[in-house]
Amino acid sequence: MKKAVFSFLLFCTTLTLPLHSFCWGFFAHQKINYYAVFLLPPEMLVLYKPNIPFLSEHAVDPDKRRYLVAAEGPRHYIDIDQYGSYPYPDLPRRWKDAVARFGEDSLNRHGIVPWHIQTMLYRLTEAFKTKNFSLIMKYSAEIGHYISDAHVPLHASSNHNGQLTGQHGIHGFWESRVPELLAEKEFDFLLGKAAYIKNPEEFTWKRVLESARAADTVLLFEKNLNARYPADAKYSFEERNGKLVRQYASGYTIAYNSKLNGMVERRMRQSIFAVASFWYTAWVNAGQPDLKELAGQQFSATDFLEFEQLNRQWASGNGMIGRKEQ
Ligand SMILES: [Zn+2]
Repeated sequence: MKKAVFSFLLFCTTLTLPLHSFCWGFFAHQKINYYAVFLLPPEMLVLYKPNIPFLSEHAVDPDKRRYLVAAEGPRHYIDIDQYGSYPYPDLPRRWKDAVARFGEDSLNRHGIVPWHIQTMLYRLTEAFKTKNFSLIMKYSAEIGHYISDAHVPLHASSNHNGQLTGQHGIHGFWESRVPELLAEKEFDFLLGKAAYIKNPEEFTWKRVLESARAADTVLLFEKNLNARYPADAKYSFEERNGKLVRQYASGYTIAYNSKLNGMVERRMRQSIFAVASFWYTAWVNAGQPDLKELAGQQFSATDFLEFEQLNRQWASGNGMIGRKEQ
């Protein structure tokens, strides 16, 4: 009987693991875009506030697109440790210089998140200039995703899921399990106002380097905790959507979070501020267009088809194209 129960649990574990295969977790990405809205000035709130459900729900579209488009994967991370050691002076910060030095294939292989954020900023700025409701919303939701990914330490490390140090699963532990368990109850997301970013490239690289520097701590603290924690208390089984899922136990998660001394909360707060500030910067750089007239607009039938296709492919179970995080 015991054996049967154990086999069943193993089966469930295997079955349900893909649920966690997303950057920052769906939960955290959606929260970050949601809270970013409240940092905006009234001239932007008039459009962004009524569209909070869209901005929050579609914060995860770039992750869904990883099931559809091969080029999507590298936009979410950078294995910056492949370019020497901190602060990686050999890696040119400008895309053209980096391509000239390493070639596009090699850059794509190690991830391009810092550069893709600049591409998205350009697109969002153009969307503001042409007052295109649909593109403003889509690009706002999506740039929020990439900016947030750049704040995750393991998105700036080639040991992205602890696969090189026997810590498989740590990716989702840090960015999904911790916020899902603690964000609602314990994290504070009340922040000031969005700020104009004079040099978005410099801002982005600063955050990416912070992530890169924190990656060792993320890994080391879990390793130390694991060494002194009772092995049979590390995981628990909890029901999720009618399925039994194996996950890091609450006690283990709380212990890890307190060891990290607020790092997950801090990075979420910094993500929220950065997302709002990039939205605001794009709007200012586009000449602060009046958004009142866009507030009542709706998405087109083509937009809905696009969202549906994304969802269908993601839900089809055909798997992510390219590197998996978990
Ligand atoms: Zn992502």
